[in-house]
Amino acid sequence: MQMSTQHEEMPLDVLFVGGGPANLAGAIRLMQLAKEKNLSIEVGLIEKGDTIGAHCLSGAIIDPIALAELLPDYRDLKCPLETENCSDRFCFLTDRRAFTLPYAPPYMHNAGAHIISLSRFCRWLGDIAEAMGVMIFPGFAGAEILYGADNRTVTGVRTVDKGVDKDGKKKSNFEPGVDLTAKVTVFGEGSRGSLTRDMGRQLNLFTGPVPQTFETAIKEVIELPEDNLFIQSETTVVHTFGFPLGLDTKGGGFLYKMKDNRIACGLVVGLDYENPLLEPYEAFLQFKRHRLIADIIRGGKVIQQGAKTLASGGYYSMPQLATDGAMIVGDGACLLNPQRLKGIHTAMKSGMLAAETAADAIAADDASRAILDRYPDAVARSWIQAENHLARNFSQALSRKGPVKFLHIGAQHFTRGRGLKDPMSAAPDWTTLRRIPPSGKTASPPAPPAVDGTLYVDKLTGVYLSGVHHEENQPCHLTIVDPDLCVERCYQAYGNPCTRFCPGSVYEIISDGTGRRQLKLNPSNCLHCKTCEIKDPFENIIWNCPEGGGPNYTIS
Ligand code: SF4
Repeated sequence: MQMSTQHEEMPLDVLFVGGGPANLAGAIRLMQLAKEKNLSIEVGLIEKGDTIGAHCLSGAIIDPIALAELLPDYRDLKCPLETENCSDRFCFLTDRRAFTLPYAPPYMHNAGAHIISLSRFCRWLGDIAEAMGVMIFPGFAGAEILYGADNRTVTGVRTVDKGVDKDGKKKSNFEPGVDLTAKVTVFGEGSRGSLTRDMGRQLNLFTGPVPQTFETAIKEVIELPEDNLFIQSETTVVHTFGFPLGLDTKGGGFLYKMKDNRIACGLVVGLDYENPLLEPYEAFLQFKRHRLIADIIRGGKVIQQGAKTLASGGYYSMPQLATDGAMIVGDGACLLNPQRLKGIHTAMKSGMLAAETAADAIAADDASRAILDRYPDAVARSWIQAENHLARNFSQALSRKGPVKFLHIGAQHFTRGRGLKDPMSAAPDWTTLRRIPPSGKTASPPAPPAVDGTLYVDKLTGVYLSGVHHEENQPCHLTIVDPDLCVERCYQAYGNPCTRFCPGSVYEIISDGTGRRQLKLNPSNCLHCKTCEIKDPFENIIWNCPEGGGPNYTIS
């Protein structure tokens, strides 16, 4: 909640909100166009992380198609590639065994793709954008969208006030948020961005045939001994499905080879899971303890950990991409291809297409929807559409229970994505949890997977390894709409799943001393993954940007 105070205004031509690959590619493309067309354009980019890349976490395998379009000489520009070429292995895991699949559809292969660290990659893009004249403001989070007199035309963003204490009072270091006004604002906040969410509600932008759906991922970078056999092997990518999620819960695991004897190791869990007792973090530890994975990572040490959600609903969950004064790009626009589980290339391309439209709007001195609709038209004519339309029902098919999902996926494979039903339906993730039967509350929970503090770490060690930090004395950035609901209805029905789905141990149920349950929040641990806002079964949690801080990913 912003206090009544004076906000300095900083006028720009184009404002990019968020410093991920979509907006960084967009900012670079805009500066290229400004140079080509001899346009003078004031371009700003705000990023809530303390540095560009600090909040960027991904698998990450990049199809370089958009990168090569944007910067054809990316290798000469010292693009930080971890592994130049990918060779894949796909495995189905039971609890004890691993079966390598003899065949995987072409879209699952990664030949020609590169493994990167998304945080390093974004820092590299940020340096290029800055050298081209983009004003980059790290450590500035958006608090609210500014609208024109019609309450519909987006005119910019107000940044979060800094130096406010947890009771909402100004501290001695108080700095009011700045009104960054712009003719065109491009929202590239990533998965479940808080401003994109607010704008979507205000302007009714998310009206696709299926709701936005998400997956949550926990990922580590593990340093391995030099004589590790996986490091010395030709395989650079391992994808798994099956254990520990089974076939009723969407998701799977991955291992990607990086430089310097390191690997990325992660588990993705579909947030439409039904079991309220599922704990994605524990499932991740179980995945690492599987014989196939444990053999590969033996002797290693976790050196960084993080978590994030992916907007994986795909083509049919896309919002309206342009409105008066604004466009949405990247994950916020649901452009990730769920079939390939890749979104960096589509994010970058969308940012570049939005930049081309922004240049037209500035040249025409008209940022109305009539002009900005050139962006969704360009997306529809681009390879984004060609790729994502083929995958339009894939995420929904994966959500089907048991082997039936393979029937749908097979049918889609032979019908260019149409499958047995087009569009397939999906339920919002917050609606899918089953109630715990009364007997479930009294049963003793299974013992959590063992941790050793080095290769297998607990949640709090993982939080430490994410580099997360927040100013403690600030308003809590998590709003619990009805705290009584947590300790009564939510406890009775679902056993407080927030204490399990949050990877940062932000939510705790404690006794208040009189034996009554109470929700305790540890917002300083927050990894900004947004899982809580998406999965809470009562939509009782609202996530907004804190005044700064968050994770500090450097190699993730
Ligand atoms: Fe993720 Fe929410 Fe937990 Fe923060 S509080 S780490 S956003 S689930």
